[in-house]
Amino acid sequence: MERKNVWKVYNEADRMAVEELSFLYRHFLDAGKTERECISQAVRLAKEKGFQDLQMLIQKKRAIKPGDKVYFTHMGKSAAFFKIGEGAIESGLNIIGSHVDSPRLDIKQIPCYEETGNVYLDTHYYGGIKKYQWFACPLALHGIVVKRDGTAVEICIGEKEDDPVLVITDLLPHLGRERNEQKVKDFFDAEKMDVLVGNQPVGESVAKEQILKILYEKYQIEEEDFLSAELEVVPAGKARECGIDKSMVLAYGQDDRSCAFSSLTALLELGDHEKLERTSCCLLVDKEETGSNGATGMKSRFFENAVAEILALTKGCGQNKKMEEDSAMGENIGQDGLLMQEDRTMPLDLRLRRTLMNSRMLSADVSAAFDPMFEKYFEKKNSAYLANGLVFNKYSGSGGKSGANDANPEYMAMLRRIMEGQHVVFQTAELGAVDQGGGGTIAYIMAKYGMDVIDCGIAVLSMHAPWEVTSKADLYEAVKGYKAFFSSCF
Ligand code: MN
Ligand code: MN
Repeated sequence: MERKNVWKVYNEADRMAVEELSFLYRHFLDAGKTERECISQAVRLAKEKGFQDLQMLIQKKRAIKPGDKVYFTHMGKSAAFFKIGEGAIESGLNIIGSHVDSPRLDIKQIPCYEETGNVYLDTHYYGGIKKYQWFACPLALHGIVVKRDGTAVEICIGEKEDDPVLVITDLLPHLGRERNEQKVKDFFDAEKMDVLVGNQPVGESVAKEQILKILYEKYQIEEEDFLSAELEVVPAGKARECGIDKSMVLAYGQDDRSCAFSSLTALLELGDHEKLERTSCCLLVDKEETGSNGATGMKSRFFENAVAEILALTKGCGQNKKMEEDSAMGENIGQDGLLMQEDRTMPLDLRLRRTLMNSRMLSADVSAAFDPMFEKYFEKKNSAYLANGLVFNKYSGSGGKSGANDANPEYMAMLRRIMEGQHVVFQTAELGAVDQGGGGTIAYIMAKYGMDVIDCGIAVLSMHAPWEVTSKADLYEAVKGYKAFFSSCF
């Protein structure tokens, strides 16, 4: 199998488009370093393109028709964006789903304490991290504090040029000889990964009181308000171009906001004059890094509910005539051999089940790029390579494909046709060598509806590190590939 380095096929216009996209991407990453920030930004971008709030349409009982663009958000941390196709919705959606949560350190509910004059915020890590990567580097605090009366205060410390940053301190190399004999997994104590936030007593008050005073003055929050807060510690600083040739991007949260950005961009860029046969959906979910549980994770029914609401609003707008005819069976048959008019209306639950089963999905998540520095953990033939295009992972899982969603060859063949038809450069890969580990995405959850699902995303070096590496070219191919998928109607 010949591999194609994407850069080699680009002309001058492609290269300019790559740079333009990468600029927007870096801005998207900077403006969305938590799931909430990412969703509100996605909604803002969609609204600019004329997307309407589904809740508003529900309230006003407004019918949804082909060509309409609607979005649905859930608790500010998940969202789905739909572009309604010309055909019956029941013939299935083209869904691209990614996640907007990333590994980080969460602030505990009772976090603030002082020890020998140093003030700390106690943390609990979120998602799979290599603990050592979080020591001795600049950190920022993002999130919201909801006060007793329900008002939410947004917090962001450490991102502006003149903002202070926070840090987790490390032991100097001169000390801890005995400690150096320990195994890596025992080496770092998660309970000792607290963030240093102050060291300045003022007048009569100790350093901790001083920190609380600053927080009150700046945000009108008190110590007890940490009880109802969602504060996340993330690496401080902006996404950067990476490499002397500037061919890559170094940034926090590219797992999985690289796929969130590229799939959203693909949906928003689908021309308004371009009629889509099938309904397209860009789905952004929370909690993937901790197993997709919770009301905003993929295991929640919020997506199913959103599709049901859309179906309810499309009923009777003439769009589903064919499906009504198809469903004609049973009693009450008229002269034309069809059900009487009043019986032709399919129950909503059946419409929903058909819609989901007939849907097709790309579970858009990042893939581990082959790293020559860690060669033995990969199998070269079946690895993803930076700048080799959009990655398809037919299956994930670990060991004997345990827990895997293994996509059907029929589906993979269809995707080959779709990608080749639009000259999208793609590659196929496994997540590392067999028995070296493994992982999963939201693919298996959506596969429960009986739809075709495959993992498909962008290759990343240093995945889950505070600073991850992607190729600008792969992002560009992802947008191309996702557009091709959205507009496909096989
Ligand atoms: Mn991921
Ligand atoms: Mn991940």
